[in-house]
Amino acid sequence: MSTTASAKNGTWRNWGGNVAARPARQVEPASVEELAAAVRKAAEDGLKVKAVGTGHSFTSIAATDGVLIRPQLLTGIRDIDRDAMTVTVEAGTPLKRLNAVLAREGLSLTNMGDIMEQTVSGATSTGTHGTGRESASIAAQIKALELVTADGSVLSCSEKGTEEERAVFAAARIGLGALGIVTAITFAVEPLFLLTAREEPMPFERVLAEFDQLWAENEHFEFYWFPHTGNTNTKRNNRSAGPEQPVGQLAGWFEDEFLSNGVFQVAQWVGRAAPAAIPAIAQVSSKALSARTYTDIPYKVFTSPRRVRFVEMEYAVPRAALADTLRELKAMVDRSGLRVSFPVEVRTAPADDITLSTASGRDSAYIAVHMFRGTPYQAYFTAAERIFTAHEGRPHWGKVHTRDAEYFAGAYPRFGEFTALRDRLDPERLFQNDYLRRVLGA
Ligand SMILES: Cc1cc2nc3c(=O)[nH]c(=O)nc-3n(C[C@H](O)[C@H](O)[C@H](O)COP(=O)(O)OP(=O)(O)OC[C@H]3O[C@@H](n4cnc5c(N)ncnc54)[C@H](O)[C@@H]3O)c2cc1C
Repeated sequence: MSTTASAKNGTWRNWGGNVAARPARQVEPASVEELAAAVRKAAEDGLKVKAVGTGHSFTSIAATDGVLIRPQLLTGIRDIDRDAMTVTVEAGTPLKRLNAVLAREGLSLTNMGDIMEQTVSGATSTGTHGTGRESASIAAQIKALELVTADGSVLSCSEKGTEEERAVFAAARIGLGALGIVTAITFAVEPLFLLTAREEPMPFERVLAEFDQLWAENEHFEFYWFPHTGNTNTKRNNRSAGPEQPVGQLAGWFEDEFLSNGVFQVAQWVGRAAPAAIPAIAQVSSKALSARTYTDIPYKVFTSPRRVRFVEMEYAVPRAALADTLRELKAMVDRSGLRVSFPVEVRTAPADDITLSTASGRDSAYIAVHMFRGTPYQAYFTAAERIFTAHEGRPHWGKVHTRDAEYFAGAYPRFGEFTALRDRLDPERLFQNDYLRRVLGA
């Protein structure tokens, strides 16, 4: 096991640049045994323990002043089972590596989020999701899970097994790092398939008026609304028989790289220097994208690089509340003096059975607000959060929010089930940090 960093040079920062922490020590276990030993040693030393992924969360969920467990050496594919159609991976494996290996084997996950930089354990622990009519978050595709608990023992769970193992499985798929350190995850996979993406600009009012139909007619529907405009860009992904028509050709490069990352970055710089110009920039950039269609394997359609850094808040509201919530958000931006240069992203997920999933027991729509890194985001996020919470919103566990345990006890019918399990698995709160104290209570 390699131990890196010291209190002097050991500052850890997240991707968004809005969270920093100084762990007492950082460890990189290369096996489950080494990881279990690190957990026992931390307990002996009276230090808290936190595993981190790639730091892509915008909340302080991964921050610790105790022992930080880094994922770099706990990566790789343990097993591919073609009868059960599952893949088992080490917890620190980046999603991009999993996707590439699966594609080579003629396999794929069913659904995923916008990027694939995160580790499998980090992504699932906060409920990372894409958009889907029937297919839910990445965590909802988990079939079995292995974790090291506070006493240093290894616990395996799935939907089969003892009552306690089933209770752990229900909660630990989106465990917030509160129940133990995940060491391996078994995902359901399916034969590799092709997705056709259809991107099309559409007026804001039309998307909302036709939302139920757009959702019902497409396996994966999402859209971006450009604040200060009545414009959106919609995206429909559906399975297709092909042929492949990858986006990575010249036209695709221009839109994906140049417009999405290059020109977008410049627009963000200009907007940060001169906020008054943002509405005009939004009008131009929301019209710059044209309709296009492409067909490729799933991860190449679902994900794309995000090089422009931002800070984000995202809430899940009941799907039926989407149109009202979004109209209120638009009215709030229109009458405020806010200048918002980042599009608002809207996605959906079906109800799932994971204790603290934002879609737990409820068909959901996600609304995500972003601000360019380095621009003040408090006023916008505070006003947006007021609207989201008025619609029984549940915040993404890895994105900025101000909610606490009292709120979550009302927002999640099974909240008490999660905290009771945590009391059993981690009575001494070895995996506690400030964030968990706030959202789960002491
Ligand atoms: C550019 C960008 C795009 C994004 N796109 C999406 C998106 O499309 N959809 C979406 O839902 N979210 C999205 N997110 C949010 C992101 O997916 C989540 O915050 C995710 O949790 C980050 O994964 P990570 O590997 O960086 O984990 P970290 O942020 O490092 O950690 C997250 C949590 O996982 C815990 N954890 C990590 N490893 C383990 C382990 N082995 N055992 C137990 N707990 C562990 C940590 O303790 C922490 O609590 C995006 C974020 C960024 C920055």
